[in-house]
Amino acid sequence: MPHTDPSTLMIHGVPEQIMPGALHPQWVEAARAKGFELVARVRNRYNLALRCKTCGELVRKAVYVLMTSDRPLCAHCLENAWAKTAEAAGLRLLRRDPGTTQYAFYLAPCGHEIRRQFEFVRRIARGEVKHRCEICHAAREAAEAAARDWELMSADPEGDRGYRLYRHSSCGTEARIARANMQTGRFTCPGCGESWATAPSHLYAMRFEIAPGKSVVKLGYSRDPRSRLDHQLPRDKDLPRQLLCSVPVRSGTRALRLERKLHKQLKAAHPGAVVPTAAYAGALKVKSEIYRPEFEQPILRALRRVAREEVRAAKGTATDPRPRRPPHHPPRRKRQR
Ligand SMILES: [Zn+2]
Ligand SMILES: [Zn+2]
Ligand SMILES: [Zn+2]
Repeated sequence: MPHTDPSTLMIHGVPEQIMPGALHPQWVEAARAKGFELVARVRNRYNLALRCKTCGELVRKAVYVLMTSDRPLCAHCLENAWAKTAEAAGLRLLRRDPGTTQYAFYLAPCGHEIRRQFEFVRRIARGEVKHRCEICHAAREAAEAAARDWELMSADPEGDRGYRLYRHSSCGTEARIARANMQTGRFTCPGCGESWATAPSHLYAMRFEIAPGKSVVKLGYSRDPRSRLDHQLPRDKDLPRQLLCSVPVRSGTRALRLERKLHKQLKAAHPGAVVPTAAYAGALKVKSEIYRPEFEQPILRALRRVAREEVRAAKGTATDPRPRRPPHHPPRRKRQR
């Protein structure tokens, strides 16, 4: 809407009433010396309308500020500078925070609106810190938790930055859990006791092409074979790989027991089947349980046998039909994955 009222001046979107009275020569001189041109008295007897010589825009300044400040600031020039800094930081300045002079709202590259301190944006622009959108970040953390059947509730009520408050979707228990543990799944629900050991798991076989034309097979167990295949095992995210088989097993402890038995049987039946660690250490983040490609079929046959047994066991008794261990069995070290 064009500004038509001759008794006011539009300054920064606000119509300011022009006041009668002389424009004293010392004001004219001070304005000139400090980069402005005196235009009018506005609002009341204490305020002046000045035109910035740098950007040509009008600003309102108290007479007192004009006369005592060495360098009165132009709000437009200041905002232009903030907008430039924001651009250098990969953000777009949307508007100042009316509640505080230190903050403004910005549009992040992800499309979210974020509130940041000017100084912080300057530090991003200088490359001292990285921009992080808390909305996107919270979504990532929520997805991590959801993948393990937990719900992200809030930051840690006790204020530890490494912890969050989560809620177990299946039992409703809320608990403080370290985010790192949520990522790996290495924790136990204090409400229902579900953990890697009791939660459903899988035995799996995967093929990795560690060099062109050179494959190996990994046999293992995991709650989440897909995540193991994609994130935990390969050193390079582009390493050619394939999940060959995944057999659901009722608990982590049972999966671990079955996996150990399979390794033992395979090594006994095929003494040369295991690949030395040095051959794949550059490609995979594991140290053992890697087999030569010609043992892919025996491994898959063994897994299919386990799958049939698991189905049979699930249809049979409700209790765990595991046989008693012989008394001389060596103690087992717990592994968590
Ligand atoms: Zn200006
Ligand atoms: Zn975002
Ligand atoms: Zn629970």
